[in-house]
Formats: sequence, structure tokens, C-alpha cells
Amino acid sequence: GEVRNRFAAANPGSRAAHDTASAVMPGGNTRTTLFYPPFPLTMAGAEGCRLTDLDGHTYVDLLGDYTAGLYGHSNHIIRKAVESALDGGWNLGAHGEREARLAAVLCARFPSLDLVRFTNSGTEANLLALATATTRTGRGTILVFEGGYHGAVLTFAGGGSPVNVPHRFVVGHYNDLDAAAALADEHAADLAAILVEPVLGAGGCVPATRAFLELLRRKATETGAVLVFDEVMTSRMSGGGMQELLGITPDLTTLGKYAGGGMSFGAFGGRRELMSMYDPRRPGAVPHAGTFNNNVFSMTAGYVGLTELFPPQVSEALFARGERLRTRLGELSTELRWTGVGSMMTVHFQREPIASARDMRPTPELNELFHLDMLHRGFHLARRGMIALSLEVGDAECDAFVEAVAGFLTDHGCHLAS
Ligand code: PLP
Repeated sequence: GEVRNRFAAANPGSRAAHDTASAVMPGGNTRTTLFYPPFPLTMAGAEGCRLTDLDGHTYVDLLGDYTAGLYGHSNHIIRKAVESALDGGWNLGAHGEREARLAAVLCARFPSLDLVRFTNSGTEANLLALATATTRTGRGTILVFEGGYHGAVLTFAGGGSPVNVPHRFVVGHYNDLDAAAALADEHAADLAAILVEPVLGAGGCVPATRAFLELLRRKATETGAVLVFDEVMTSRMSGGGMQELLGITPDLTTLGKYAGGGMSFGAFGGRRELMSMYDPRRPGAVPHAGTFNNNVFSMTAGYVGLTELFPPQVSEALFARGERLRTRLGELSTELRWTGVGSMMTVHFQREPIASARDMRPTPELNELFHLDMLHRGFHLARRGMIALSLEVGDAECDAFVEAVAGFLTDHGCHLAS
């Protein structure tokens, strides 16, 4: 209560902006995850790793737009690329050269990608990957995992979402090998796809074990189902994503977030024999349309970002920075558990280890307390406690954040233990 009041008093500009927005959007919101009570901050601008809100407060941005903001804010190389796209015109309604350039980089980097197609979001990429699987196999069942988030209409936290697409989903427990094997066997005859995040992102930054992903690889092959890795978040973990790090190659991969340079973006691709069904030269080709699939801004920003700003050695350095930060945070207290891989992490207010959604204790009050306290100390992260480092976050910001969390623990430690 007290923390909320302090927040409200400090942010009259954001309060007014939220009131204005609420007259024309439900709850003033068009992206549910960004809302928190009593009202969310409204940002006025951003530069590098810093955000500035309407009341003039500045925050270190540790959220990095849930991994989409890998390049930080207003990066001048991305800006130049988008400006060059502006110079050439947009809404061409025709093939351009930019999409093939980006496709070539992605196919060279991700082991599973022989052929790739573009969409406008990660949600759409996953929808198309599932459509590819159901069309090619003639089957209808999709094996997914509790805590998985594959997009607005493909949400499996808490058992599912009322707006999910009406596929026949079977929901397994993440990292539970026996249960996953049993489900795959039980549904083998109708199993079109196994869709999995190599690290649960929205579901709490929980990594899959190698054995779990290897089992899914094996079960997909055995049953004739299509294995889809949703690497919308995890593609940043190396030059070629978690699939390259682990040496486990799915049949299809979906991408999104930063891979479009921070513009609206999604991509799905994989084995030639699966993806060639979209080859319009073929008799019986399956259409895949989308007005903005090759929009010049995403195609250009994505290409320039990957080639100029995020070559594989930079992905390795970012991964190492994240690992160092998570280790330091983990050493502060046994009351908090920091899960994650590389530059993606989430704080959990529990001592018990976490291997799946089943292991997570819901702690909404502590999450709120931590989030508002961190804002007060000048750090922007997700309400649910997620961090995704951008390339702009340096040692000084990491040091300051570790100090801020230590300060939080000193001030509120008693709440945590109780
Ligand atoms: N898949 C994963 C793993 C994600 O984290 C997200 C977004 O958070 C999506 C898919 C959906 O992507 P988009 O928000 O671009 O639709």
C-alpha cells in the first residue's frame, strides 16, 4: 500500500496519460503484460540503455522489451538502416532485395533453417509453423508444455488462455521426460507437432534440460511429428540460438523479437522438404500471404542488426555478461532464486529449485513490491521479475543493479522470509 502510494504520488504525468488512454482503450492498454496497478508508467523517450518517463524520471532499461530490444534504444546503425529503407520507398507491393538478404543470414546461422519465410510477429510465426506441421502430416494434435508462451493466441501458462486458437493441444509438464514420452506415445497417431521453447521465457526463464529436448527430438522422429523450437526469445543465446548451443536440430524454428532489428517481426523456417510446400512454382503449393511479410523496415533493420551489431562473438559476450550478472544476483540471498540462461533471467521469491511451472510459488505481492522498489531505485524490469539485457547495458549498470537488489534485501528482507 505504502509503496503504491509513493509510486502514484511520484508519477502524476503517467497517471494522467493512463486516464486519457483508458477512455479509448480497455484499461488504457493494448499489450496486457505492460499493465500494472495502480497505473503503468508512460515513457516519453529512450536512448541507449535508458528510458525517460513523462514525469522526467530516468530508468536503466533492464527489460529490453522482453528481448526485442537487444540493440538498445535509438541505435544509430539501426536508425541509418531504417532511414535508407525510407529513401527507397515502402509498400512496394513487390519483391525487394532486402528479404532475401535477411533470409540468407538467418539460414547461414541457424542449423535447422534451410528455407525461411517472414511474418509480422512471433505469434504469427508459431501459427504458421503449426499450420505447416498439420498440413504436411495430415494430423491435428499439438504437444505443448505448461508454462509455454508462444504468442497471444498460443498461451499455456495456467493451463491455457480463453483466446487460444482451437488446435487440439495436449499440455505436458516441462522437463518431465516420462510424462512427455507417455503423451507422445499416447497421441502418436495424430501427433502433428511438438512445440517447445528451449528456455521457458514468459513462463519464468526456466531452461529445458538437454535430456528433455533430446527426448522430444527422438519422440518427434519416432512418431513422425514435426519438432518446432520456438526460439523467438532464445535465438540470442548464440549465433545460431539454443539449437546451435545444444547441438539439437528441430524440424522447424520460429524467430521474432530482436531478429527484426526491433521492428515488427517474425519468421518460421526449417527443413527444405517441409518449407518447400510454400514454393509458389510448385503445383499444389500452399499459399502463405501477409501484406507486411517483407516490409522494408523489418527486413533492413534485421539484416543490419545481425550482420553489423550482433555477430556470433557479440552473442557470446552478451551470454557471458548475463551469466556473470545472474551468478552475482544469486549470491546475494538464498531467499531469491534467479533462473535463466545467458542474458535472460527472472527472479523468483522462493528457495526451492525450479524445473517447471509446477515448481513455482505464486508471489504476486512480493513481485509488486520488488518491481515498484526497483522503479524507485531507477531500474525498469518486468512486473513478473524478468530481465533481458540489451547490448547497451554495461558493467556499470550491472554493478548498480546488484547494489540495488542488495538494498532491496536490506530494506525488505523481513517480508521475504515470512
Ligand atoms: N514465442 C515466445 C517464446 C515469446 O516470448 C513471444 C513473445 O513474447 C512470442 C512467441 C510471440 O511473439 P510476438 O509478441 O511477436 O507475437
